[in-house]
Formats: sequence, C-alpha cells, structure tokens
Amino acid sequence: MSALSELCGEIALCQQCEIAKFRTKVVPGEGAEDVDILFIGEAPGWHEDQQGRPFVGPAGQYLDELLASISLNRRQVYIANVIKCRPAGNRDPLPVEITNCRHWLDKQIELINPRMIVTLGRYSMAMFFPGTSISKIHGTFQKRDGVIYYAMYHPAAALHQQSLRQTIGADMSKIPALLAEAVDITEAEPSPEQLKMFDV
Ligand code: URA
Repeated sequence: MSALSELCGEIALCQQCEIAKFRTKVVPGEGAEDVDILFIGEAPGWHEDQQGRPFVGPAGQYLDELLASISLNRRQVYIANVIKCRPAGNRDPLPVEITNCRHWLDKQIELINPRMIVTLGRYSMAMFFPGTSISKIHGTFQKRDGVIYYAMYHPAAALHQQSLRQTIGADMSKIPALLAEAVDITEAEPSPEQLKMFDV
C-alpha cells in the first residue's frame, strides 16, 4: 500500500471535529501519488459525503469537463479538499474545522509533492494567498519553494453564475503553459510580463 493510501485510511478514521458524528463518509481525496497538479477544493457536499470521493456531484462534473478541456482526467491529477468531512447543510467550513484538518492536507502535499497547486474557491485560496480576494487573483500564480500556486474560482461558482464559465475556462486553459514553463518562472510575485505571458 502506498504512503498516500495509508494516509487516506488514517484520514477516514479521524474524529477530531464535531462534524465527524454527522458524516456518512470521509472524503480524503483521490488521484495518483506521482502527479504534477494538486487541486484543492473546499469541503465535501452531499454527493461526496455519500460516496467518499471528492467532486462527484454537479461541481465535479464541471471540474471533469474543465480537466478534459486541457486534456487531463482525474486519474492524472490529485483532488483534495480543505476539510475532509461534509459540513451539515452545506454550510461554510468553520475556522476550527479548517485548523483541525490542515495537518491532513499538509501531509498530502508532502507525499504528492506536486509541481503545481491549484486552489478552487476562496477557502483553499485563503490558505495559500492570505489576505486577498478571489475576484482579484483568480488566474494568477506565485512560485514559492519550487511550487506554482495558482488561484481559480470554485467550479460551483459557475453553476450559480453562468457568466463565470468563460472566466473559469480561460483560467483553466492557462495551466498547461504554466506547468511547462514552471522551471523558468522566478520565485514569489509574478511580474506583469509573466502574467501577460499566460494571458489567453
Ligand atoms: N465542492 C468542493 O469544494 N469539494 C468537493 O469535493 C465537492 C464540492
């Protein structure tokens, strides 16, 4: 068994938060260990809670389409969430839940060692781009310690607001070029030139 599968087994037993009592299944994450890209969503919804798999509801269908638009499928990336249990009634994750769950995500990142981390929505964005807003930084990146951090809107946002589809699709389409150029990108804040380079 791989270290990542073992970790998912440990996550599945976690009882650290109150919501553990109300979940149907834990949703540790899914994908291969040796992938380049880790996508991080917010929290499992109803469908994910039923199946124990991330992004399997309507937002997940759209994520699959977005992956296909850059010739990827979910077996070629890793998909995880900020918190691993469904908050009852689909409420937002509580700060204490995010804090409690953080060590699981950190361990996943350590084992996967991705070249690129794509944050989906404001909760995962806040972990890696604190103090900013998704409307400002979606479609932009920072390279830190050899990893490209890239912010995107949550796919569910496009289900509520059709006008965001084009923006999300455009942000997704920048990922292959970013990954291909990753080694040449300078660390920290991208320059305006770098940002322009990846404009579509
Ligand atoms: N939304 C998320 O953020 N994660 C999922 O796994 C499903 C929907």
